[in-house]
Amino acid sequence: MSGLDAGPRTEVCVVGGGSAGSALALRLARMGHEVCLVERHAFPRPQVGEALTPGVWPQLEVLGVADAVRSAGFLPAREALVRWEDATARPVRMGADGLLVDRGRFDALLLAAAANAGVRVLQPATARRPVRTAEGWVVPLLHDGRETRLRARFLADAGGRGGCLGGRKVPVSVSTLALHGYWRGEQRQGPETRVVAGAEGWYWGAHLPDGTFSAMAFVDPALLRERSVGRRSLELLYRALMEGSGLLEAWTAPRLVGAVHARDATCYRDEVPIEEDCIKVGEASFSIDPLSSSGVQKALQTALSGAVAVHTLLVRPDSAAAALRFYREDQRDSVARHAAWAAGYYGEHRAHADRPFWKRRAARGPMPSPPEPPPLPEDALAHRRWRLASDAILVDTPCIVGDVIELRGALSHPRLARPVAWLDGVELASLVESLREGLTLPQLAEAWARRVPWRQGVGILGWLYRQGLLTEVTPSGSP
Ligand SMILES: Cc1cc2nc3c(=O)[nH]c(=O)nc-3n(C[C@H](O)[C@H](O)[C@H](O)COP(=O)(O)OP(=O)(O)OC[C@H]3O[C@@H](n4cnc5c(N)ncnc54)[C@H](O)[C@@H]3O)c2cc1C
Repeated sequence: MSGLDAGPRTEVCVVGGGSAGSALALRLARMGHEVCLVERHAFPRPQVGEALTPGVWPQLEVLGVADAVRSAGFLPAREALVRWEDATARPVRMGADGLLVDRGRFDALLLAAAANAGVRVLQPATARRPVRTAEGWVVPLLHDGRETRLRARFLADAGGRGGCLGGRKVPVSVSTLALHGYWRGEQRQGPETRVVAGAEGWYWGAHLPDGTFSAMAFVDPALLRERSVGRRSLELLYRALMEGSGLLEAWTAPRLVGAVHARDATCYRDEVPIEEDCIKVGEASFSIDPLSSSGVQKALQTALSGAVAVHTLLVRPDSAAAALRFYREDQRDSVARHAAWAAGYYGEHRAHADRPFWKRRAARGPMPSPPEPPPLPEDALAHRRWRLASDAILVDTPCIVGDVIELRGALSHPRLARPVAWLDGVELASLVESLREGLTLPQLAEAWARRVPWRQGVGILGWLYRQGLLTEVTPSGSP
């Protein structure tokens, strides 16, 4: 990639060309912004995060790279062998196709798409700590062996766990270490992916497009201290864990290729993921437990919602407060939901539930789930009258509207995880006003007729009922 004269300007500087940085840069360029992306390594570079969940496909479609990913020769991840609750290994079919990728090539593909969309890419180039000035940011760079500086109105930190902006990372899980290596063997056996729970932690392994088998052990860092494991004996511990895990049954005659690496896999969230002149996306914003294999999907999600937040800050300063709130709440919700899910999943493991690794991570008791409302009564559709539950209210909530974030009325209720502004593409605020009084469904259909087709209205009413947001009005008129 070409060099820069000292002190060039750009509207947005993105530091980091991993999945999150490339996706953010690509979206912002498509929205008409001038974007310069700085990536430290020449691509393809090695990176963990090789199992992609099926949820990445809609994101790749939005980014316009789904066809390129489909034809890149990555492997479908249709089946996993999971030994989790007890000693029985169970085959688990994925609902829709997940993927096993070479992250170096996957990220290179996204970065090339960003460059094609007009993003100026400086690579390999290292950004040093950016400096905030009255006119924007000055980013000191080491590029082509030269010290130079890039000026930008807006800065996006997509530098992964290390990040470039600093800031406090709040841990949201107990400390976890991943020990990682690649294997080859004579003959492949069994499904693409294996997940195994053991006494000291859990293990993940998968066959990759280049014919290697990526195998990881997730353990407490204390295990290394207890066993006095240093840099030299790391491989011995890793081999012992792998042999005990059964993961290597994926090959006949497995042999380790290359070095064993230890990486921090602790979950955290950055305290300030967005300000009026900067944003953190991907793992610069938060990291989730690799247990879900959805880190890349989350990183892409932060890039897509982050792009809308940045675009709003740059073109609609009057909506800045809504944009900041949207992105902060999105980060907090994602982190909390994922942490609850992970704790519940750790809690499903029984065989070593009394061991420190599992006790420190598992949720105590089953996850509370709201009681199901009874089925919709058969005569509900014709004669009975319904109105909105008295504790359901409309609140102003920041929502994505086209390419910007705006405040919209959203339905809030203790049973809803978060306020809901749209259902099935229909803005709820305009509909629920009719539910303030008790109406039968035919009366309601008439009231909603100009806004939503009959069948869709019935669907929305059914959803409100299932969430427990409708109260029947008794014949006497009182609910
Ligand atoms: C052990 C482990 C296993 C995992 N397994 C999975 C999995 O199976 N599936 C999954 O979806 N997720 C997994 N994850 C999570 C996944 O790796 C991350 O979610 C994902 O890599 C985050 O992408 P990113 O773009 O935010 O950061 P990264 O992928 O870390 O990209 C950051 C980029 O920024 C560049 N950079 C950093 N600092 C600078 C700088 N100062 N100047 C210039 N460039 C810079 C780096 O070179 C890098 O290319 C795993 C994580 C761990 C720790």
